[in-house]
Formats: sequence, C-alpha cells, structure tokens
Amino acid sequence: MAAVITLYPTVTPPSYHRIVSPTLKIPTDTRRPIPVGLLACQRDPLLRELETSIISCTISQPASFPSVKKGKKASTPPSADQPTLEVILHDTVIFPEGGGQPSDTGIIKTADGRTWAVTQAKRHGGHAVHYVRADQAEDGLASLTPGTNVTVSLGELDFDRRYDHMSMHTSQHLLSAVLENRLDIHTLSWSLTAAPAPSYVELARSMTTEEILAIQSEANKLVFEGRKVHVEVQEMDDKPQPAVPVSESGRAVGKGVPTDYTGGIMRTVIIDGVDRSPCCGTHLPTLHNLQLFIIPQTETLSRSATTSARLYFLAGPRLITYLTSMHSQLTAAAATLSCGAPQVPDRIGQVVDERKRAEKRVDDLEFELAKHVAGDVWREMKSSEAALFVKHVHRTDDSVNPLGFLSAITTAFANIIPAEQPFVLVFSSSPSSQTSASASVLLVFGSDEKYVKLAGDLLKGKLNVKGGGKARDGVVNLLAFGEKAARML
Ligand SMILES: [Zn+2]
Repeated sequence: MAAVITLYPTVTPPSYHRIVSPTLKIPTDTRRPIPVGLLACQRDPLLRELETSIISCTISQPASFPSVKKGKKASTPPSADQPTLEVILHDTVIFPEGGGQPSDTGIIKTADGRTWAVTQAKRHGGHAVHYVRADQAEDGLASLTPGTNVTVSLGELDFDRRYDHMSMHTSQHLLSAVLENRLDIHTLSWSLTAAPAPSYVELARSMTTEEILAIQSEANKLVFEGRKVHVEVQEMDDKPQPAVPVSESGRAVGKGVPTDYTGGIMRTVIIDGVDRSPCCGTHLPTLHNLQLFIIPQTETLSRSATTSARLYFLAGPRLITYLTSMHSQLTAAAATLSCGAPQVPDRIGQVVDERKRAEKRVDDLEFELAKHVAGDVWREMKSSEAALFVKHVHRTDDSVNPLGFLSAITTAFANIIPAEQPFVLVFSSSPSSQTSASASVLLVFGSDEKYVKLAGDLLKGKLNVKGGGKARDGVVNLLAFGEKAARML
C-alpha cells in the first residue's frame, strides 16, 4: 500500500466554527444574504464549492465602486470596455477582503451551464459583493438572475491562492501572539503581501537576531504540537467598539475591533492556549505543518514622528516557493563560480578581492603607460620644426573608461613639456569591435584654448559627434558614435 502523507486536513472539523451566542443563528432564508462574519468561507475555510442562490445582480457603476481608504492602494477597477456585474449570493466560499487578507477570486456556475469569473469580492454594508466579469452586461444580467440556483466555487488556482493567504494569515496571528507573550512586543500592523514576497508585521522596535531566532523556535514548538485553531462568533455589542488605527502601510492589528469590521457579527479567532484576536479572515483549523520562517533581521523605518521596524516572515506554500527560488539562485551562483553552494560566500569574497587587486594593477600600469605614450609624443614634438605641432594618437582600448586613460596621457604630457612650444594633440580611443552603437572618445589637448576650440569644432563637423564638452583648461572631450567615426579616426 502506498504511503499517504496528509499535508493539511481536507475537511474543516465541525468544532472549528462555534457560535457562542444563544441568540445568533445562521440565516436560512435563501432570499436573504448571509452577513459577512457568517459566510461559508468563514465557517468552513477548506470548502471549495457551494450550491447557493442569487439574491441580486446589478451592473457595477464605477462611481459606486467602494471608496478606497486613505493611504491604501486601490485595487484595479474594472476596465471601461468590459462590464462588471455586482452579484450578491445567499452564501459564498469566496472571501471578501478584510482583516488584512485580500479578496479571493473564484467562479460562479449558473443554471444554464455557463461559468462566470469572479475577479474579486468586497463587502458592502455587511454583505459580500462578487465582481463578475461579463462580455456583455445584458447577457450577464440574463444569466445571473436573482432567485436562481448557482454553484460558487474556488478553482484549483483560486484555492491555492486562498490556501497561501490562510497560511500567511494564521501564521501572522501566531507570530504576533508569540511576540506579545514572550517579548511584550506589540504588532502595530501587518501586510499580507502578494505572493511570493514575504509578508511582514510592523513592530514598535527592532529586534536582535537572537530574539528573532527565539521567537521563531517558540512559534515552531506550537506548530509541531499542532495547536488547534477555531473561531468564536457572536453578535456585535451595540456599544461603540474601540477603533483600531490603520497605519499607512498595512492593516492594523489589535485587541480592539478592526475598523472594517461590519455586519454586526463579532468574530474571534483562537489559537488554543496561545491567542484570541478579533478577526474576520479565513484561518486554517490547525497550526499543523505551518512552519514559520522569519527573515533574521528587522528593517527599520523612520517616519516623521515615529520609528518602527518590519519583521518579514514566510509559512506554508509560500515558504516552499521561497526556499525553491533561493536554492536555484544559489545553485546558479555556485555553477558560475565553479564551486559547491556552501563555498559561494567565500568564493565571492575571493573574487571581489582578486578584482580589486586587478583593478589596482591596471591603474598602475595605465599610469606607467601614459607616461611612455606622452614621452613618445614629446620626443616627436622636440624634433619637429613646425610652428604649431599637431599630432593625432589613436588607441584601440576595451577599457570601461577610455577617457580616463587619455586624460592620464595629457597629465603626463603636461608634466614634461616646456611652456613655449605651441601644440594641438588629438587623442582618440575606440573599442576593439565596433557596432553602430559603440562609441569612440576623443580628447583634444593643446597649449592654447583657441587652437583646441578650433580643432574641436573641426572634428565635430567631420565626425558623427553626439556628446562633447566645451573647451576647458585647454582640453575638449568629444564622443563620436558608430563604425564610420571609428574608421575615420
Ligand atoms: Zn487576522
């Protein structure tokens, strides 16, 4: 018999969702929507498909699109040419965004056998509204008729995405609880970043590597114990709830009720013996197999008045993706360096060191060579009878900074010439292989600014010169492009 490894429970245990108020009932009237807080996705986070019925379907008006909270990034609005329908169902497995957890994507199958893509779900006044894409609005309205039965489901990719969100969200509750319980570090906010990036909690202070490792091992002890997670639900008290501030970067976390908590349902997510937090998100029924990896350094953020620190973490499928990508990057680096993965840091250190020494040697040799080139020109100038000594020296050089070398020649030359003899020297340099995009550099150097400018203008006219500076201190630099320019040099 083949061995079976259960990675996570495929069915949510009945003890997961607990209604703790004697008066609260899940509405059974299929003509009314079940409020956010009691939705199927919140009662049974592992449920992928549900038979339900349509309560309403309207054409989405961009103006009526839910206003975006200040400081929050707007989600992509539907494009003008493709109509979007707003569909309210009696119940749903598609989670409408909230609690820092993004909206699910999913599918609605109508009675006529057609399939409609749900691009996102949002809460309007305590109800989950599904945004359905339709090619033609009339067509959609005809199919998604109120009162008819539909199947709402999470496809394979939709469920993978949701499972990743649940893994990260439940891990955030665990991480924040351990930080609070062990080190008295309060979580200010958190962000469930888009996969595969690590998510983060924002804290009032930075942490040492030792502290982070201690928190990680403490959290993973609870993971290995497979602590259970369940949800307690009751009506929201009528008395006003303390608001939780929303920071500009993420979703605020606290023991108070989040500001986007609507629908009159109070939901508390409990990790057995570890944490109780008000939250509307979908959570895994157990910490089992939810190993937590914390990036072992905090990132400090300084804003106008406050300083905080971000602690990045990974868990579940996102952790595996991260490890896979890190491993392939390391393997690629090891192959380039012709060494084993563990030797990569040492090998890189060596390569950087060697490179520094090689650069230093090139600099020294260039300096020495510049003196020789200058010396040759100087000897030629000494034996020349011309009233104005003019000379062009061309070099083929694949240096990243050919102009630097040409300047070194002029400096060396300036150091050996006597002041009285007038001269104009043109130094040019081209790479060994010419393409239409490669550049040659020219440097005009002379005893008199006037000659230099004249020679510079003459060259500009002849060559395809794009760049070029003004004559300054008897030097003008030019940049000529292309093979033709290189040939002419
Ligand atoms: Zn939460």
